[in-house]
Amino acid sequence: MVKSLKRGPELYSGKAKTIYLTEDDHFLIMHYRDDATAFNAQKKESFSRKGLVNNYFNAYIMGKLQEAGISTHFEQLLSDHESLVKRLNMIPLECVVRNVATGSLVKRLGVQEGLSLEPPILEFFLKDDSLGDPAVNDSHIHTFKWATDEQVAQMKRISLEVNELLKPLFLNAGMILIDYKLEFGLFGDSLMLGDEFTPDGCRIWDAVTFKKMDKDRFRQDLGNLIETYEEVAERLGIKIPNATSLCDS
Ligand code: 5GP
Repeated sequence: MVKSLKRGPELYSGKAKTIYLTEDDHFLIMHYRDDATAFNAQKKESFSRKGLVNNYFNAYIMGKLQEAGISTHFEQLLSDHESLVKRLNMIPLECVVRNVATGSLVKRLGVQEGLSLEPPILEFFLKDDSLGDPAVNDSHIHTFKWATDEQVAQMKRISLEVNELLKPLFLNAGMILIDYKLEFGLFGDSLMLGDEFTPDGCRIWDAVTFKKMDKDRFRQDLGNLIETYEEVAERLGIKIPNATSLCDS
């Protein structure tokens, strides 16, 4: 059932989404814009359909996770660019799970690009643009009280559960889930997955050709960003409308 909550004032505008209050304190509206940014917003561009594709993509993945019993803030799609979510008190950390070595892991540790990581590596980063989201460990999180030890254990457990669910989902569609970033928050006392899961915040490679099918296409000027996001969606069976099907308010 569609919750009929009206969009209220803007709460926050991030790099690719704008968050609005609603009449109900417990819910927010996430508006996926057409903007893409990289390198801490030093590189910026707008791509037609990006917001729409990411909105539907995220709804599909969050739905799959919820079906499997993982709590997320996602409530429902409201329109092509908007979704209703629970209002979480966000934990200021990014949890990154890596199945294959690439990106900052290769730069920081000098390991071989493309190395298969078994078991997967889980890393925490502090969400702080002014510091460039530095890597932090359990000891930093404990001492600086960014999360309790129990919350850290929960975030690790859920992050790896997400991997067990999504890795085969992508592989069955001919793609490798290389790595991804998750963010968590509290709804009352309940810790749950927040933010988004889209090709903006994960790496996906074609399983045969290793073609990059994620935001690295933008970061590395590889072209066809949205066409490739749509190809990922199509392979997963995600239905994305061609024209505006639901009315954006
Ligand atoms: P890396 O640490 O290699 O740069 O990124 C690891 C994974 O986390 C990649 O899938 C990357 O897209 C994602 N990631 C890390 N930080 C951010 C961020 O600030 N925003 C987004 N959208 N994704 C991020």
